[in-house]
Amino acid sequence: MKVNKKLTIAIDGFSSCGKSTMAKALAKKLNYIYVDSGAMYRAVTLYCINNNLISEGIINEDLLKQKLDEIHIDFIHNAETEQADTFLNGKNIEEKIRQIEVSNLVSPVSKLAFVRETLVDLQRKISKGKGVVMDGRDIGTVVFPNADLKIFMTADVEIRAQRRYDELISKNQKVNIQEIRDNISQRDFIDSNREVSPLRQAEDAIVLDNTNLTRQEQLNWILNLIELHFQS
Ligand code: C5P
Repeated sequence: MKVNKKLTIAIDGFSSCGKSTMAKALAKKLNYIYVDSGAMYRAVTLYCINNNLISEGIINEDLLKQKLDEIHIDFIHNAETEQADTFLNGKNIEEKIRQIEVSNLVSPVSKLAFVRETLVDLQRKISKGKGVVMDGRDIGTVVFPNADLKIFMTADVEIRAQRRYDELISKNQKVNIQEIRDNISQRDFIDSNREVSPLRQAEDAIVLDNTNLTRQEQLNWILNLIELHFQS
């Protein structure tokens, strides 16, 4: 498909509703970069875990603030999976950041204003001058309020838990569905109710409920939308 300019496409929504699946497929189709903003928050969370900056659920905010410029996050193409892997200070952490231990701590870390400020800067820097598909919680509201296209995704929580469970089981992770359901609900609650950049549907976002859609159907849905509005 030929598009009339380099678009900025923001995909926000609740946890585990397939944002990254759609965003990756779309970026590939358009030959754009895909930026997984959640992976950045997960990378900072892993850094906190590895450096004992979280104890009994309490984050050592002062120390994290001091250490923030020691945290270097990169996305590097993996020829085998044909996707970008997340690197933290030169180490591939793609698998680690998807584990439930990180999922359980990422929302409290993401509440911190200084963490958000740093990561939003990075998100804008990576995307500058490029066609980009970025997914997250505040992309259409804060990171790119002037995005060309904003999608807000949602799906039934039971379906979301089942999809995430199937994905983690396929990666040989030991998880149970109740733990996943609880994690999703808890993250949605913290992400929606935090003071700084809460998860919100932007006024000009188009809602996609993909409860009953396949991956191909949701990709076709967004491609049709782009064709309608931006095809040259
Ligand atoms: O997208 P993903 O589920 O990997 O995001 C993990 C967590 O990172 C979210 O639950 C949220 O707390 C945080 N996040 C955020 N803002 C973003 C992306 C993710 O606060 N733009």
